[in-house]
Amino acid sequence: MRILDRIERIYAIGGGPGANRVGGSQAEQDAHDLVAGWLNEAGLSVEVDPDGNLLGRLLGDDLDAAEVWVGSHLDSVPNGGRFDGVLGVLAGLEAVERVGRRRRTLAVVAFRDEERGFTGSRARVQHGSLPEFYIEAHIEQGPVLERTSMPLGVVTGIVGVARGEVVLQGAAGHAGTTPMDGRRDALCAAAELVLRVRDAAIAVPQAVATVGRLEVVPGAANVIPERAILSVDARAPDRERLDALVAAIGFDPSLIAEPARMDERVQAVLREELQRRGLPAPELVSGAGHDAGVLAAAGVPCGMLFVRSGAGGMSHSPEEWSDPDDVALCMDLLAAALERLAIAP
Ligand SMILES: [Zn+2]
Repeated sequence: MRILDRIERIYAIGGGPGANRVGGSQAEQDAHDLVAGWLNEAGLSVEVDPDGNLLGRLLGDDLDAAEVWVGSHLDSVPNGGRFDGVLGVLAGLEAVERVGRRRRTLAVVAFRDEERGFTGSRARVQHGSLPEFYIEAHIEQGPVLERTSMPLGVVTGIVGVARGEVVLQGAAGHAGTTPMDGRRDALCAAAELVLRVRDAAIAVPQAVATVGRLEVVPGAANVIPERAILSVDARAPDRERLDALVAAIGFDPSLIAEPARMDERVQAVLREELQRRGLPAPELVSGAGHDAGVLAAAGVPCGMLFVRSGAGGMSHSPEEWSDPDDVALCMDLLAAALERLAIAP
């Protein structure tokens, strides 16, 4: 399949192990240049917007009608996987070529620098034209579809993320000469907080929360910890649950990403096309952020199609995998959905 060869060509760009096309790097630029060439070959009119986002348009019959976009991103984390982002852009291109000229203009989009904070899509929603619909296909990056033996899933929403730092102040002392009675050990308090974070997330449906970083000061074997500094990352599918989770943990977060709902009409189109093919249409909430979340928060009706992750859902790793059959189904579904949205009134 042409798409698989192209995925390998982009994967080879930054040198191994894994994908190495960090946002803003020459490798990300090289990937954009390569894909711009393929958009040209496909007869699309290529535009690079002032923020570096790449668009390839197939003009529609009605140039006054708002556009339909399909895409994702071409940057990667260091040592990332070959499908993350790239699959959505290249499957989008295949789908647009298959659908051909329709009422609305169709555009394949590659947003810049998704992994470090959605730089490209955030810039676009602040000062650029936006489409009537945006669809993004993406590798699931989790184990749900693989565990349930389903190739594709319909994303209903993207979680909101609240993140913050907690500093617990205790009192230092000699580990040998300070009696247990009356100690103020900051790390013991941190241990209780770590468990509270876990229990709080368990109590809120579809929420997750993680302490991923813990720093102990002064950090010596024979000194009672004076201070503990913890990171908290809390995620939930809607604002109400996110606020409840933050309150239960009891920390002061900075909101990293608003929860985003995928558009009901686009979800329905994806679901119907799956069912028409005799495939299950499971609904999933994305625990990771995506460009579709940024566009949805800006008011663009968005839909996302998840493609089964092989290798136990491993992602952001060279192990990341999707089967060719699943990739083929993804292109098929995207084309069918685009075709319907492209003629939608
Ligand atoms: Zn991605």
